[in-house]
Amino acid sequence: MNKKSKVILLPCEAYEEERIYTNLKKGLELLGGLDSLVKKEEKILLKPNLLKRAEVEKAVITHPALVGAFGRILKEEGYKNVILGDSCGTGSTRKVIKGTGMDAALEKLGISAVDFSQGVHVAYPQGIQAKVFVIPKELKESDCVISLCKMKTHALERITGAVKNSYGFIYGLHKAKGHTRYPSADSFARMLVDLNLYVKPRLYVMDGIVAMEGNGPGSGDPVKMGVMLLSKDPVALDSVFCSLVHLKPQMVPTNYHGEKMGLGVWRKEDIQLLTPEGEISLEKAVKTYGNTAFRVDRRPIRRGLWERMAKALNIFQKKPYIDKSLCIGCGICVKSCPVPGKAVNFKNGKGKPPVYDYKKCIRCFCCQEMCPKKAIKVK
Ligand code: SF4
Ligand code: SF4
Repeated sequence: MNKKSKVILLPCEAYEEERIYTNLKKGLELLGGLDSLVKKEEKILLKPNLLKRAEVEKAVITHPALVGAFGRILKEEGYKNVILGDSCGTGSTRKVIKGTGMDAALEKLGISAVDFSQGVHVAYPQGIQAKVFVIPKELKESDCVISLCKMKTHALERITGAVKNSYGFIYGLHKAKGHTRYPSADSFARMLVDLNLYVKPRLYVMDGIVAMEGNGPGSGDPVKMGVMLLSKDPVALDSVFCSLVHLKPQMVPTNYHGEKMGLGVWRKEDIQLLTPEGEISLEKAVKTYGNTAFRVDRRPIRRGLWERMAKALNIFQKKPYIDKSLCIGCGICVKSCPVPGKAVNFKNGKGKPPVYDYKKCIRCFCCQEMCPKKAIKVK
C-alpha cells in the first residue's frame, strides 16, 4: 500500500485562466477527483490568502485567475453551496478583493465573498499548543474548507504557504492576540499545526506561478516560479515549496512541528511527487522548476539554551527596522502591533517614522506585514 503523501506539481507559466483551469483539472484528477474530497451537498468555504489590499502584480494575495479557475471547476462539477472569505490582516474580504478581478470572477460564478461577521469560541482539548480558538461564524457553519494559499516568504516562519494560510481562520483581532500568546516561531508554528488539525482543510492549492521572495509576506518582491502545487497534506506541500526554493524543509517550524504532531510529512522519501506527465523525483523537479536565487531566510536554526540566552540578552535576534526614506507616517504599524503599550510608536505621539522599543518587541513582525510602503525591513 502506498502511504506516501501525494503532492501534485503543475507547471504553469502565466496567469491565463484557461491554462490554469486545464491544469487544475488534471491535478484534481491525479488526487482522485473532487468528489473523493467533497460531497456535492456540502457547504464549502474557499480560503485564499488575502493579507491586505495590494495590486495583484505584487504577489501579496492569491491570484484572482487561480481563484476564478478553481471556482469554475467547482461550479461545473455541481457544487452549489460555495462561499469565499478570509480574516484579512487589514480590511475585510470584500474590501481586499475589490477591483482585483477576483470580485468580478466570483460574481460571475455566483460565489459569495463574505466578510466574517462574528467570532465563535471553539474548544480543541487535544491541542498540543492551543486548546481553544476563536473562529469566524462562517467557518463554523461550513462543512468543508479548501485552502487557496500563496507561495511567499515570511519573517517569523521563513515561509507562508499551506500551513500558515490557515491563520486566516482566526477571527479578526484574535489574530493579533495569538501573536502575544505564541510569540516564538516554534510556539506559533505549533499553534498553526493545531489549527490545521482542528479545521482540517480537505485540500490545499498553492499559487506559485508568481511567488513572493525577500521581505514577505507583504513587502517582498514578485518572482516567477511557474508552478501550482496541490495536496491534501499541507506539510508535504510546504516541503516541496521549500525544496524548490533551496530551503531545507525541516528549517521551517511548521514543517518540523507539523510532522511531529501528525499533520503531515516533510521528508522526501514520504512524498510522492506527480506531474501531469507522471511521477517525478524531487531532484528532477528542483532542477527543472527550482530557483537557487530565491531570497528566503536560510540561516541556521537556534533552539534550546542558545535561543533562550539570545532572547534574554536581546541579541542575535531578527528585528524589524524602519527605512525612514520610505515611511509616510500612516501609523498602520503602530495599530497592528499586538503588544500592550505598543512596541513601535511615534515618539511623543508625533513625528515620523515611529520608533521601536526592542525590549517590548516580541518579533511577531505584524508591523512589517502590514506596512503599505515596504518601509519596514528585518535585520
Ligand atoms: S506602516 Fe510603514 S509607512 Fe506607515 S508609519 Fe509604519 S513604517 Fe511608516
Ligand atoms: S513592533 Fe512589530 S514586531 Fe515588534 S511586537 Fe510590535 S508588531 Fe510585532
